[in-house]
Amino acid sequence: MRTQTAEFPDPSSSAGEPTIITIDGPAASGKSTIGHAVADALNYLFFDTGVMYRAVTRAALDRGVNVHDADALARLAETIDIDIAPPTPDQDDGRQSTILVAGEDVTWSIRAPEVDQNVSIVAANPRVRQALSAKQRTIGQRYGSGQAEKPGIVMVGRDIGTVVLPEAGLKIYMDASAEERARRRLLDLEARGKAVDYQQVLADIIARDRMDSERDHSPLRPAGDAVIIDTSHMTPAEVVAAVVDLVRQAGS
Ligand code: C5P
Repeated sequence: MRTQTAEFPDPSSSAGEPTIITIDGPAASGKSTIGHAVADALNYLFFDTGVMYRAVTRAALDRGVNVHDADALARLAETIDIDIAPPTPDQDDGRQSTILVAGEDVTWSIRAPEVDQNVSIVAANPRVRQALSAKQRTIGQRYGSGQAEKPGIVMVGRDIGTVVLPEAGLKIYMDASAEERARRRLLDLEARGKAVDYQQVLADIIARDRMDSERDHSPLRPAGDAVIIDTSHMTPAEVVAAVVDLVRQAGS
């Protein structure tokens, strides 16, 4: 374990195991499932940044803010009160955490199809990105410097290794074929009692990937120093073991 001082916190991993692990990749590539399990294995904080873009999208739809109105959307992102809390014992409905917008529980409503269909428009707005990435960076640096209640953080999204926390000690880019990702998303939705059509899920995933990869600001792409893992033919347990191995290797 490396030592740190309050004056010179080292957020990356010049020695010892990395305290900041980033996982980026396209929709439904397994980032959250894997990130959560890796964070549990290391006793790190797990932070899924996608929920912030989803929360802003949910709020815009609920409050009648046009997602194409760049200024109104930016104001919403700059002022919105998003909170993320661990689930309480009575919230045993499969959630990883509870997402609150102005105190209202939006954990499941941010997963609705209308959010999926609008979130990439919201996420392409540079001022929305600026507001949300600043919050993500503050959280990442606090946990990465060893000065929070957990010794590190696993942060997942699209631009975490490239833009939000480029100093991270371990960067993963997780990928899988669009068909395999659609199949997994379908299983998730069915498990939550949603009737969905495979071709529709596949089309939505492909459309969202295209918008996320082609936008001008912080497009989805692997960082130059990311480890790319194609999970198409791997079980979740195999992917978790591979990432934990990379953490241990980086620390030895
Ligand atoms: O990961 P998830 O599918 O929940 O992300 C929802 C959307 O939020 C993505 O399709 C993308 O448009 C946006 N996003 C982003 N940057 C991040 C995380 C998510 O642009 N770091």
